[in-house]
Amino acid sequence: MRKKPFSLDPPERLKKLPPYLFVEVDRKKRELRAKGKDVIDLGVGDPDLPTPDFVIEALYEGAKDPKNHRYALDEGLPELRETFAAWFQERFHVKLDPNEEVLPLIGSKEGIAHLPLALLNPGDIALVPDPCYPVYKSATHFAGATPYLLPLLDSNDFLPDYSLIESEVLAKAKLLFLNYPNNPTSACVTKEFFKNSVSFAREQGLLIAQDGAYSEITFDGYVAPSILEIEGAKEVAIEFHSLSKTYNMTGWRIGFAVGNREVLKFLAKIKANVDSGIFQAIQFAGIQALKKGRNAYQKNVQIYQKRRDLFVRGLNRLGWDVPMPKGTFYVWIPVPPGYTSGELALKLLEDAAIVLTPGNGFGPNGEGYVRASLTNREERLEEALKRIEKIHSGKAF
Ligand SMILES: *Cc1c(COP(=O)(O)O)cnc(C)c1O
Repeated sequence: MRKKPFSLDPPERLKKLPPYLFVEVDRKKRELRAKGKDVIDLGVGDPDLPTPDFVIEALYEGAKDPKNHRYALDEGLPELRETFAAWFQERFHVKLDPNEEVLPLIGSKEGIAHLPLALLNPGDIALVPDPCYPVYKSATHFAGATPYLLPLLDSNDFLPDYSLIESEVLAKAKLLFLNYPNNPTSACVTKEFFKNSVSFAREQGLLIAQDGAYSEITFDGYVAPSILEIEGAKEVAIEFHSLSKTYNMTGWRIGFAVGNREVLKFLAKIKANVDSGIFQAIQFAGIQALKKGRNAYQKNVQIYQKRRDLFVRGLNRLGWDVPMPKGTFYVWIPVPPGYTSGELALKLLEDAAIVLTPGNGFGPNGEGYVRASLTNREERLEEALKRIEKIHSGKAF
């Protein structure tokens, strides 16, 4: 019998992926640090502030209990689902059935990544904002489906314009990703936009997956709505939530999908074959975090707001033209004339040891922007502004 040679050629679904954005940025950053440079990292969106102590205490307690050392239930502890439903009702005034309309996730990224497998056939289309959190696109590819990019333009307040989508695309589209407050543009929406989106989804037979990872990080009195506040939304929408950004718990891996119960059942079915739930001690810690609610994160939000004011005002004093974001901990910076996103990011990296994420890494319509993450102390942001000012006085942008 002839043997075929062993081959480590990656499968098509891997070949199709661009390098994961933050991995590339991270590699460059490490290179500079290895050369002894004092790098200011405004690249990755990961809170610098610690997880609150009472959450850590709850983890200790949970970790000591042998009952928590075994496989967790796939659908999460009933108490976790009930606590999230109570948090959601208090926050958005929407009632969720904790048994069927709340699905705990190992971080919302996990749920986002599995959703296309739960909904799409090969050849289907997922409507994906451009620029966007990269997982919407890669997860769509993994399901053998095709992402169709919806430009998010400044001229339309970084909202997709549904009227521009061709009917042949709509005929094949099954899923629409939304993400407000938005990463990377930091755009925020009114309920009106969600209402239009729900109508559009109903007309076109689409399922909306709205990513609410930043729902609690908003400024100047703006309160982010949930898409589930719209009447009838549960028929056509799910929403992702996460403790990661709200409670400084990115490393812990705990999030939720809420909304349409059929879709959550499909997603749970995929998950049952992939993972075995969230470590129960983390679930107990998450319960404590949710019970504390706003009191656990209000201060953080104020810290981000002060950093935002300092950084955006500082750039604008130098003659940049940067709008003041109402939500998220990102600043979406239009690049000064004469530069591409990549050129500006490279210049700031090489001349000022400042890491920013080039906007085109989030999709073609991110070209012309760089994203700065406010996950640094005020002193560091001030230092970044000083370094940028120095470049200005040396050779103007
Ligand atoms: C950070 C982030 C997530 C992932 O959050 P986890 O719950 O930690 O997986 C999801 N969506 C967006 C837009 C994010 O920026």
